[in-house]
Amino acid sequence: MPYKPRVEKDELKLMRFLNTRMDLLEKDKKHFLNLQKGYEGEGMFDLLTEKLSLERYVLNDLLLEFNNSKFQIDTTMIVQEKIYLFEVKNFESEYEYRSGILHTIAGNEVNNPLDQIKRSESLFRQLLQKLGLKYPVESWVIFINPEFTLYQAPKNQPFKLPTQLNQFMKKLNATPSKLNGWHKKLADQLVSLHQIDSPYPRLPPYEYGQLRNGFTCATCHSFSVSLQEKELVCGHCGHHEKLESAVLRSVEELKLLFPNRKITTNAVHEWCGVGLSKKGIKRFLDKNYKSFGHNRWIYYE
Ligand SMILES: [Zn+2]
Repeated sequence: MPYKPRVEKDELKLMRFLNTRMDLLEKDKKHFLNLQKGYEGEGMFDLLTEKLSLERYVLNDLLLEFNNSKFQIDTTMIVQEKIYLFEVKNFESEYEYRSGILHTIAGNEVNNPLDQIKRSESLFRQLLQKLGLKYPVESWVIFINPEFTLYQAPKNQPFKLPTQLNQFMKKLNATPSKLNGWHKKLADQLVSLHQIDSPYPRLPPYEYGQLRNGFTCATCHSFSVSLQEKELVCGHCGHHEKLESAVLRSVEELKLLFPNRKITTNAVHEWCGVGLSKKGIKRFLDKNYKSFGHNRWIYYE
């Protein structure tokens, strides 16, 4: 188990909700798909770090700050003698590396992950220094997608290509590592410095009335769901979900999309769409949330 597990970022969740419930502009849709792809790639790398048997603290998705500069690290791994920083890229298909520039075969330049990891490493080092810690840091860019090819891959850069990953993880796993209280303190300190980032300024503008309401499938996000007995059944992928879980999921969605709106029985009834009694909704809300106010003015948190 990672010491700090990876959770899906609010920004990705929100972009998914918006993508389901409104028509996104092409650039926003692309942004959403990129976020989703990145998250999937990180998940693939997590499977590899979870399989390691050496003593380690794995901190996933740290957002840190030094001197008013924020930096994010996909995976931070503390072992006995070193801290590894990993930037995970889920690029697929063919890319080329020429004079320090990474571009697709079609010639479109993409941000060089090397610049990103170098910046993170430098800020991370400075942060450690400020904390009074002298500790070697080593960073790597991990290309996780097995269908990624990099032509003219530079040998002297900290890149690990899909075909090198197995060997790399094996070698890492063979590193002698004994952790003690000092390492734990370091891990705790880094976790405590993790910043909470508000995704709202980066979202496309949206309003309540613009969004399509109604239940969506928990798995494929389609609206092709129907109520059968006490379950929500998806006509698209066949997924079954208990009604209570579907209502609570919809409430969480509503809360994340509209953090200033009060959660009331009526609000949830409207959001979930028809086919559900207000009485049933109130029962789920009473059971799972704390209620405030009285009678008609009851709301939940
Ligand atoms: Zn479905």
